[in-house]
Amino acid sequence: MKTVIIGAGAMGSLFGGHLTLSGEEVWLVDVWKEHIDAIRSKGLAIEEKGETRNISVNAATDARSIGKADLVLYFVKTYHTEKAVKDSLVLEKEDTLFLTLQNGLGNEEIICKQVDRKKVILGVTGQGATLLGPGSIRHAGWGKTSVGELDGKITDRLNRVAQMFRKVEIETDVSFRIHDLVWEKLLVNVGINALAALLEFKNGQLLDHPETLRLMEALVNEAIEIAKKKGIRIEGNPMDRVKAVVEATRENRCSMGQDLDYKRKTEIDAINGAVVKEAKRLGISVPYNLMITDLIKVIEKGFHQG
Ligand code: NAD
Repeated sequence: MKTVIIGAGAMGSLFGGHLTLSGEEVWLVDVWKEHIDAIRSKGLAIEEKGETRNISVNAATDARSIGKADLVLYFVKTYHTEKAVKDSLVLEKEDTLFLTLQNGLGNEEIICKQVDRKKVILGVTGQGATLLGPGSIRHAGWGKTSVGELDGKITDRLNRVAQMFRKVEIETDVSFRIHDLVWEKLLVNVGINALAALLEFKNGQLLDHPETLRLMEALVNEAIEIAKKKGIRIEGNPMDRVKAVVEATRENRCSMGQDLDYKRKTEIDAINGAVVKEAKRLGISVPYNLMITDLIKVIEKGFHQG
């Protein structure tokens, strides 16, 4: 399956590097020229469990030079999705599949504005990665990846994508309830990211205080209420899932935290901000999510002024 990954940062490079090792034709596309130049000249360095290997991966700053793709996989930050999709349309042929494994809400809608929704599949991933510098990433977390059709059907094309990921030890299943899984992942991000980012905490510190535990629970409970009103089925105990992720990533500074540390825009609009947006549409009040979204937004504004 000729796969083109749009957004070759931490996650795009992780998937692209591994898929290349399996012999698939893979292309990484990123607008960050220094990173692409480093991959082309020295290979992609992936640090994994203390060892670093260098992988020779096809990489380009522009999708126009690549020809058509069987699979286009989006791994840009959510606020770049619209432009990334536009740039990737040159890759489309009759049976091209478009997959997002990004976090947050709204990616499906943004992609489907420009691509026929029959060609779009959704996913979530529990894999984790950190960008170390141009041409270099660290594989930081191992979790399940799920992919699903928008209409919940289990199809051959879905199985082909899952099979391709499994071949490179990216544990993947196909799901008939992918929208539920997108929300289940969202709940984890809603509980952790903005709170840890604002408090300048590593994830694990959120478990050390009754106050942060209470705040996490309040943020997650508001989002659960919205999910239920939308007909989303949340399995198990979401708060247990949030705590399990925090425990497993105790030493990590979450990506939103890193974004604030480096004075970069965050994905708040697709996470707590998306809960606020959905709540407004439903006429429900979500004061904790509104407050934390506003706080992050004010900090972001300071970056532009600075
Ligand atoms: P990242 O910032 O490391 O990488 C994003 C890359 O996209 C950057 O290199 C940027 O230059 C590039 N980009 C921006 N606009 C582009 C365009 N128009 N065309 C091509 N490239 C473009 O981000 P990441 O950490 O890899 O995260 C990507 C997505 O995956 C996010 O939605 C994130 O929430 C999600 N995610 C991340 C992790 C993780 O552990 N990092 C885990 C699961 C999900």
